Amino acid sequence: MNVADSEVVVSILTGQGYEHTDDITEARLILINTCSIRENAEQRIRGRLKSIGHLKRKDNSIMIGLIGCMAERLKEKVLEQEHIVDMVIGPDAYRALPSLIAEAESGHKAVNVLLSREETYAGISPVRMDKNGVTSFVSIMRGCNNMCAYCVVPYVRGAERSRDPESVLNEVNDLWVKGYREVTLLGQNVDSYRWEHEGNRTGFPELLERVALINPRLRVRFSTSHPKDLSDELLKTISKRTNICRHIHLPVQSGSSRILKLMNREYTREWYIVRINAIRSIIPGCAVSTDIIAGFCSETEEDHNETLSLIEWAGFDFAYMFKYSERPGTKAARRYKDDIPEEIKTRRLNEIISLQNKISGRSKKMDVGRVFEVLIEGYSKRSKDNLSGRTSQNKVVVFPDDGHKKGEYVNVSVERCTSATLIGKINQSL
Ligand code: SAM
Ligand code: SF4
Repeated sequence: MNVADSEVVVSILTGQGYEHTDDITEARLILINTCSIRENAEQRIRGRLKSIGHLKRKDNSIMIGLIGCMAERLKEKVLEQEHIVDMVIGPDAYRALPSLIAEAESGHKAVNVLLSREETYAGISPVRMDKNGVTSFVSIMRGCNNMCAYCVVPYVRGAERSRDPESVLNEVNDLWVKGYREVTLLGQNVDSYRWEHEGNRTGFPELLERVALINPRLRVRFSTSHPKDLSDELLKTISKRTNICRHIHLPVQSGSSRILKLMNREYTREWYIVRINAIRSIIPGCAVSTDIIAGFCSETEEDHNETLSLIEWAGFDFAYMFKYSERPGTKAARRYKDDIPEEIKTRRLNEIISLQNKISGRSKKMDVGRVFEVLIEGYSKRSKDNLSGRTSQNKVVVFPDDGHKKGEYVNVSVERCTSATLIGKINQSL
């Protein structure tokens, strides 16, 4: 989401005559787009500010701005804590960037952290900063109306608002024309996407289908679904359109219904199992990935074991796994005690990671001997002799370069795998 936001920021600034550079020592304006989701994300930003301090000391006319969630969370406090920062700009204030920069250049520290109920940056055509020119993110909504007890997102990104479907379709169409072959539609809870205009209502299944209909050779992904809202209607839409990728990211957070209730996730372990079964029956061969938090407030060994057993049962293809990090101002920080000692959180997280690694490895081994349609994204990271791409299930595949170009589809037969990658050879081009 921050990549998508940075592209909006670059677009706004390009319209003002700025040019984007990859070399920080050339920059006259440095904007750091930030994340507040866990404490270590913020610590990394503080480290980054330290590491660029010398640029500002050498030339005080270089402007430095902190933008995004950390700016929103800390507001003016950033200016007291980080003296090299000239501007603090929240995620809904990017249209005001030119005037904020002018204010900072005139010697006044500039702050705009107003959250909006309407801003979706529709109409701004993001300048793509990705290098492959094949895959791209498209934001379809902003903010979040859920109140998961641990989560800072509703506080730093404001209320949920959906973007006009026509502006989403125009953006995707434009990407297709420019040669992009995959889009990922982004929102904190895409299942609650809703646009109403003159009595017409568009929900997420309809939007997804309209995007998929732009061209059958355009792959469509989306993130993130919420287990409480993932509908059979959506699953049926995916199963109907082969260019909607066979992968659903469905964060479970915990396998214990007691912890899920404390987290305010609004579903139980049993409900989650029903949703996974629905995915498996409506979209055979669909990969499922998840997010898991270890060591939430009051989590017992029994709760933790329920998480492990759910991971085992679900057989996730992939997972993002985190230690619980208390975020100031959230319901959990206000009402519950962060009472799981650090070493227990670490031990539980390690158990979750090692189980998931085993399961991810198993899921890749099961792909050996099979043939997958792969969209080529470029050379493999390790060698220019190999190409790399992903399957519809979002697994990375590496195979020898035989002259095919990025953006093309090929059939690859998988011959072996490492812990992160499938390795094979082209079976036939499509
Ligand atoms: N909206 C998505 C959802 O509901 O799952 C994702 C939100 S968040 C940007 C991505 C992940 O960060 C969450 O799914 C959760 O696992 C993790 N996360 C959020 N707050 C956290 C916290 N306070 N400590 C640890 N992990 C957290
Ligand atoms: Fe955070 Fe929950 Fe919203 Fe996801 S759904 S962004 S975890 S509050």
